[in-house]
Amino acid sequence: MTGDYMVRAVAYNGAVRAFSLRTTELADHARRRHSLYPIASAALGRTMTASLVLGSMQKSGSVTVQVRGTGPLRTIVVSADSDGRVRGYVGNPLVELPLDDRGKLPVGEAVGPGTLNVIRDLDMKEPYRGIVPLETGEIGDDFARYFYDSEQTPSVVSVGVLVNPDTSVAASGGLILQLLPGAAGDVVATLERRIPTLLPISSLIANGKSPEDILHMTLGDHVLEILHRQAVRFVCDCSKERFAEGLHTLGKDELKQIVLEDGKAELICHFCEEAYHFDRAELQAILDDRSLDGWEGSI
Ligand SMILES: [Zn+2]
Repeated sequence: MTGDYMVRAVAYNGAVRAFSLRTTELADHARRRHSLYPIASAALGRTMTASLVLGSMQKSGSVTVQVRGTGPLRTIVVSADSDGRVRGYVGNPLVELPLDDRGKLPVGEAVGPGTLNVIRDLDMKEPYRGIVPLETGEIGDDFARYFYDSEQTPSVVSVGVLVNPDTSVAASGGLILQLLPGAAGDVVATLERRIPTLLPISSLIANGKSPEDILHMTLGDHVLEILHRQAVRFVCDCSKERFAEGLHTLGKDELKQIVLEDGKAELICHFCEEAYHFDRAELQAILDDRSLDGWEGSI
């Protein structure tokens, strides 16, 4: 496959579940949409990559991930679904910090201490909410902790984004390995031996390795069974109708004030920066609609 996609596989006779992703195009799409500086590109790209795996575990509906850090990046919000669609934004896209002592973008420092919140939308039921403290703010470690604490699944989560000098995204991807119940000790030992010898995931992707190549390098050919391949992409499902519904839920006084003072409204989608304009007539129509039940008078 070309472009961005996710591969799901099992290895060691089903003892290990694996997800391998290339997300370069969607991370760069987010970078352009939100005018992200490199640290924000890395943080959002990593979060979107891991969230796509969470989304793929949904039978239907979507999962929302909030990385609620107290660092300068502020909150990262991502939503992903079971069809490989993802969207997201960061509170402050313009954070600049010096590279860390390994010469890497200091994502953990930019995120800071906080919590990782996962909200799973379950059909017809109350959403599931899981909250864990952030491990390091580097995103991969934080998702590994979430999988362990909230879903009782020991996991290795490696997510990475490489940014070009011109701030475009050179490579983005992820590898998530999960030990399923019954995984024998020698499987764990083998993985612990092999994984540290791998280059960072973003370097592997930048060097032209495909998600399948990365799985083979990590897990070995003879024990790997590819189950599924799925395209992944940045998509926002916002629309003018949805924003109009949002305006409908505003208080009448608030709406009236907007009509009187501004005569128009511009609403911008946090997830994709699309702007929706409402002129006076459209706002008045919403207000008239709101006024039908029991509010007397007009403006
Ligand atoms: Zn949008």
